[in-house]
Amino acid sequence: QSNPADFLEKPHEMSNIKKVIGVVSGKGGVGKSLVTSLMSVLMNRRGHRTAILDADITGPSIPTIFGLREKATGSDLGLYPVRSQMGISVMSLNLLLENESDPVVWRGPVIAGTVKQFWTDVIWSDVDYMFVDMPPGTGDVPLTVFQSIPLDGIIVVTSPQELVSMIVSKAVNMARLMNVPILGIVENMSYVECPDCKKQIKVFGESHIEQTAAEYGLSVLGKIPMDPALAKVCDAGAVELFEGDWLDSAADKLEELA
Ligand code: ADP
Repeated sequence: QSNPADFLEKPHEMSNIKKVIGVVSGKGGVGKSLVTSLMSVLMNRRGHRTAILDADITGPSIPTIFGLREKATGSDLGLYPVRSQMGISVMSLNLLLENESDPVVWRGPVIAGTVKQFWTDVIWSDVDYMFVDMPPGTGDVPLTVFQSIPLDGIIVVTSPQELVSMIVSKAVNMARLMNVPILGIVENMSYVECPDCKKQIKVFGESHIEQTAAEYGLSVLGKIPMDPALAKVCDAGAVELFEGDWLDSAADKLEELA
């Protein structure tokens, strides 16, 4: 039987990437791209050279969240990522498509091949932390990505509306298969904060995230409120201006990896 690690691809020879963190979710729309973006901004603010590989090929939202308007360019040597205002390097299918609203109707192997190229053909240069916004779910495509990019750790994003225990168990299985540690769980849309009294309102009822995390020996890295201001900065391409300390302990944990 072959070893899953046999499929791992080497990055571009002009790339020197220290830590690669995959951000996964059970399905689309739970805030995987938001968490990827917030974590990248936090690590960049702490002085680390940071990059985002947008592997969510059928829903590439990273360029919008960062307000990137330039397209990616290439040379004989490879593809160059686009830099955000604060200097985060980004590669995404939307930075290559002529028309961003063109639907991507590719089959799984083509999607997985594209992600692989973002790893092997992009000149990332020196990166301390790369975040991979993984394709949602635990199907074929995310699995292939898992098998081609050597991840140092995984962050699982959940929301209280979901069957969290099932998602976490699938993520744990996938991670175990690839021998990659799960760094912890981030719960998004955890609560709404009353703008007047600051009370936290659990719109979806009490979450069982702590319980689920404990069952699998994982930690909850942070809880992000449902916040219209957050949606607004993302829509405006201004995520780099976000304010909030929800993921500070997650950032601490990533610094411990170094
Ligand atoms: P995914 O990557 O899991 O598909 P996104 O991060 O793209 O999900 O989020 C989906 C949508 O929900 C986006 O429009 C985003 O701005 C919004 N959203 C996500 N999390 C929050 C939040 N905590 N508060 C407000 N809006 C949010």
